[in-house]
Amino acid sequence: MSAKIIDGKKIASDIRNSLKNQVDNMKKEGIFPGLAVVLVGNDPASRIYVNSKKKACEEIGIHSEEYALPEETTQDELLKLVRMLNEKEDIHGILVQLPLPKHLNEEEVINAISPSKDVDAFHPINVGKIMLGKYDFLPCTPAGVMELIKEAGVSVEGKECVVVGRSNIVGKPLAMLLLQQNGTVTICHSKTKNLKEVCRRADILVVAVGKAKLITGDMIKPGAVVIDVGINRLENKKLVGDVDFDSAVEVAGAITPVPGGVGPMTIAMLMKNTVKAAQR
Ligand code: NAD
Repeated sequence: MSAKIIDGKKIASDIRNSLKNQVDNMKKEGIFPGLAVVLVGNDPASRIYVNSKKKACEEIGIHSEEYALPEETTQDELLKLVRMLNEKEDIHGILVQLPLPKHLNEEEVINAISPSKDVDAFHPINVGKIMLGKYDFLPCTPAGVMELIKEAGVSVEGKECVVVGRSNIVGKPLAMLLLQQNGTVTICHSKTKNLKEVCRRADILVVAVGKAKLITGDMIKPGAVVIDVGINRLENKKLVGDVDFDSAVEVAGAITPVPGGVGPMTIAMLMKNTVKAAQR
């Protein structure tokens, strides 16, 4: 038996189309959503992400402004820019592309973004609201994962959900969202013992670690939904996730590919948050 492939590319494209209609209607009412993307330095992966975000804005009709700053930008200069964007009326969402160069303090920069323009939902106020289940914005990658689970036709309620990875931007908020939908949630991390046994319990398995082939078919419960968040570049330049797709696809009930799974959903959710910020 081979798993159903959850087509993140198609699902994300449908979401962007529906956002485009929404933005067309907003424009008739004089609301023009705007996103500012701040990029510091020359990280090639960050450049690719920023370009994809700009392209999605163009497609949907969101006004986007790019602030590409040199590697040697100081903390004060960056904070000044963020504060300017907080005040800028035609900008509803601010995204500072992470990681920042090592000499900059990421936490201080995130804290400086106005929570109402924090479309990544990384500000402590927005993180706190997610814990309480009363949020304005959901962090883009976890929100994208939840959409993919929904699209797989699976209800989270009562299911054994295992999240591998406990980062502040993926694993932890995702665990909260699964819990809010009444899943029974286990979070695994680098110190977890018996990862295989824990993963094998999962009806819904989400992996966000950053290690190619960490999860193999023998670690998956037959029929489980497997969502692979990982992005790893192999020596031969091939892009793969954290799940060994070839062995997993034989066991899982549904699985996301890499690329074409979670990645496009993250950008679609960023667009959704920007539209929401403009509406508010
Ligand atoms: P991170 O490095 O902040 O966290 C990795 C987590 O994995 C940690 O919590 C750690 O405890 C855990 N871990 C490490 N080794 C482990 C092991 N052997 N067994 C179990 N857990 C282990 O990473 P992150 O920012 O959450 O990103 C994770 C992956 O997801 C990366 O590959 C990243 O590129 C990718 N990512 C993809 C998207 C997307 O849009 N598709 C978005 C964000 C991150």
